[in-house]
Amino acid sequence: MVVIMHPRADEAEVEAVIDRLNDYGFDVHKSTGVNQTVLGAIGVKPEFDIRNIKVLAGVSDVFRVTEPYKFASRAWKSEKTVVDVDGVSVGGNEIAVMAGPCAVESEEQIEKTAAFVAAQGGTFLRGGAFKPRSSPYSFQGLGEDGLILLHDSASRHGLKVVTEIVELGQLELISKYAHVLQVGARNMQNYALLKELGKAGLPILLKRGLSATIEEWLMSAEYVIANGNPDVILCERGIRTFERYTRNTLDLSAVPVVQERSHLPIIVDPSHGTGYRDKVTPMARAGVAAGADGLMIEIHPDPAQALSDGPQSLYFEQFAELMTQVGMIAKAIGRSVRAPEEVAAH
Ligand code: PEP
Ligand code: MN
Repeated sequence: MVVIMHPRADEAEVEAVIDRLNDYGFDVHKSTGVNQTVLGAIGVKPEFDIRNIKVLAGVSDVFRVTEPYKFASRAWKSEKTVVDVDGVSVGGNEIAVMAGPCAVESEEQIEKTAAFVAAQGGTFLRGGAFKPRSSPYSFQGLGEDGLILLHDSASRHGLKVVTEIVELGQLELISKYAHVLQVGARNMQNYALLKELGKAGLPILLKRGLSATIEEWLMSAEYVIANGNPDVILCERGIRTFERYTRNTLDLSAVPVVQERSHLPIIVDPSHGTGYRDKVTPMARAGVAAGADGLMIEIHPDPAQALSDGPQSLYFEQFAELMTQVGMIAKAIGRSVRAPEEVAAH
């Protein structure tokens, strides 16, 4: 149940409502917004008559949340969440572009990539130091050495680091080097990991699971938020369907659906979403046109030699073209991507 307090309700009225909710046996979470306070009551049984709360002083509205997630819902928080990543916003007017290789492979690879991403107006350097590969025989990542390479190149070029946390127990190590912790598609329902990330001091990029419904995905976001971390960025990266001409089916309708039901920012990953580099730019354009708050793009200085996901990784010149095109789409809908010179000045 969500209780919206009047903008003019005073602190004593808010406290009185919380006391009453506690008397009824509900746990209460308070969210103090710009205009008003919203209370979320947990444990409300279907037979509870919400008019008991509606009549209290200072209460503007009360309604049941029918979705199984609460803190991730629009009903709980009507203003869009803007996640502040060490000074860079995700969910604001500017489209956040996160780019880099699938996996961190070498110093030269990361340094060249970081320089190029920054020069083109990207704001985040991505790259996996720990890779959750479908095959145990595939390259598993450089581990901490990879994290150091990411961190050093990103700071040289004014970029933020987004990298994947694969297992419980890596939190402390990865937090030393990253600005955003990515939860991969294969881990979207790793609830033990999600709970631990509730205690992380960093924003979480939560990828949609390979066969997850939007509701299941929002429930995973709920795990992180309910455990104490409100900074969740969703990432649509394609789902598994019967279609075989693309690696996954990029569900762009998830963008407006999520935005209707949730206040969380959502970005689109057309690299994993399509699996082929010639499909990446068209779907990046479409993602921004659909209203995504950002993009995650795999690029590599030499995709033919990439240790993972080479076929979906863009050549540098393709990424430059993508940025130009995405910039035009962003402008058409009243948004922007960062201009290269702004990055240099940053
Ligand atoms: C990745 O971003 O490289 C990755 C492994 O993505 P996903 O979890 O979406 O497959
Ligand atoms: Mn990849």
